[in-house]
Amino acid sequence: IEKQSTNSDVIFRSKLPDIYIPNHLSLHDYVFQNISEFASKPCLINGPTGKIYTYSDVHVISRRIAASFHRLGVNQYDVVMILLPNCPEFVLSFLAASFRGAIATAANPFFTPAEISKQAKASSTKLIVTESRYVDKIKSLQNDDGVIIVCTDESESVSIPEGCLRFSELTQSNESDVIDSVEISPDDVVALPYSSGTTGLPKGVMLTHKGLVTSVAQQVDGENPNLYFHSDDVILCVLPMFHIYALNSIMLCGLRVGAAILIMPKFEINLLLELIQRCKVTVAPIVPPIVLAIAKSPETEMYDLSSIRVVKSGAAPLGKELEDAVSAKFPNAKLGQGYGMTEAGPVLAMSLGFAKESFPVKSGACGTVVRNAEMKIVDPDTGNSLSRNQPGEICIRGHQIMKGYLNNPTATLETIDKDGWLHTGDIGLIDDDDELFIVDRLKELIKYKGFQVAPAELEALLITHPDINDVAVVAMKEEAAGEVPVAFVVKSKDSELSEDEVKQFVSKQVVFYKRINKVFFVDSIPKAPSGKILRKDLRAKLANGL
Ligand code: AMP
Repeated sequence: IEKQSTNSDVIFRSKLPDIYIPNHLSLHDYVFQNISEFASKPCLINGPTGKIYTYSDVHVISRRIAASFHRLGVNQYDVVMILLPNCPEFVLSFLAASFRGAIATAANPFFTPAEISKQAKASSTKLIVTESRYVDKIKSLQNDDGVIIVCTDESESVSIPEGCLRFSELTQSNESDVIDSVEISPDDVVALPYSSGTTGLPKGVMLTHKGLVTSVAQQVDGENPNLYFHSDDVILCVLPMFHIYALNSIMLCGLRVGAAILIMPKFEINLLLELIQRCKVTVAPIVPPIVLAIAKSPETEMYDLSSIRVVKSGAAPLGKELEDAVSAKFPNAKLGQGYGMTEAGPVLAMSLGFAKESFPVKSGACGTVVRNAEMKIVDPDTGNSLSRNQPGEICIRGHQIMKGYLNNPTATLETIDKDGWLHTGDIGLIDDDDELFIVDRLKELIKYKGFQVAPAELEALLITHPDINDVAVVAMKEEAAGEVPVAFVVKSKDSELSEDEVKQFVSKQVVFYKRINKVFFVDSIPKAPSGKILRKDLRAKLANGL
């Protein structure tokens, strides 16, 4: 639905009517609002062990942990870092932080010590929930900054590293009434994922109670919920919860409707297929590389996958061939896309085909804008809004978007304009049926299997190499990963620096998906007079085979 606003912007809204959103509630009160209807139902299923937590377990335990956080000196607005693979303790810790009025920041446990430390220091992390096997990576935070470390290792017989607390001790507290006196304002920050946004280094994205309640409601509340999760659903959670896609669109949405969430710590095709069959998974939110693995897997023939009714792909573009291949594997499922960006809360658009038979899923489209939100497409050069079928930068406005970047008003102003529009850095168009198609990316971001790689972060590392005079990192297309980072490097005079040395230098310092895939030695890096790297020129070079 296209509307002309007073300042002549062309604004697109959902085809479905707006809904009432109780975004005055705290996030935990909102997700547990209807818990009496499903208190004894399974909430979290630990895939590998089969252990089940009911809704009432999750509610009680997360409140107890919140009380323990309080006892340990975690104050309101303090930051708790969750450094875990997918597991029930992740969910419990996140909810506990919310109950405490604290802020949860999640980091990838595969990060290097330097990467974790950067996020912990930038966010002033006070306590980290992790497993013993990762404690070595964060010892210095414990020793130098007094960060409290809690280990989730289950077995009481295994000792945990010295000076650390055991998660099971935090679940014993019976003083949860201290939690009832915590006063939360809707604009308080509750989650702090890290994202590089349209430019520069990773930044803390401040998502508030109101923002996340709004986003979850946009997906699953009301008469015609877009995603159509319901309490009978069993939702697969194999995507990493430290990324906002799984945290919001699986965990929080699943909790809100009373669904069962099947948690898998990592992607293994056979276990995944077996669990889909055994637990009768109905909804599978995945990303294109997993779609690819499933599409190519001969093992799918050995399992009954007929329980799946929705396959939702997001976080990166999904090609038509893949769509067709995976549709063939899930005969009873509707396959569609969602489009998200951490800063947008994260969901901007989702296929309506999930919800209503009357809306067919359009191939290649990533859905229509969510309810209670406004979208416009602007010409990146003039800022003027464009009408249908014209590609431009996608902008979104609504209560679901971030409050801003932590301690970075400049970056916030560059992303959210004075009228409240968040500029995504993605190029897309809206067709005659209100479907959004993403056609290009204006921003620097590289997406490796849906994971963020910030070129600025790798450039900052590379430039510290004594033999490197200048450098630019851009995305190169690759089948399995979607995109990989490659570096254009200007060597210092007479340097013998090799491609392998450059790659090694980076590999030692970053998580696996940020590794440089290829190095091109060049005489200079193309730059605008302002000094900005002309990444488009470099990408064009790659596209033309250099
Ligand atoms: P993140 O903040 O890590 O979720 O990354 C957000 C970015 O991922 C978006 O701005 C897009 O560039 C990309 N993205 C997310 N969903 C899709 C999609 N369905 N199709 C194409 N790109 C997507």
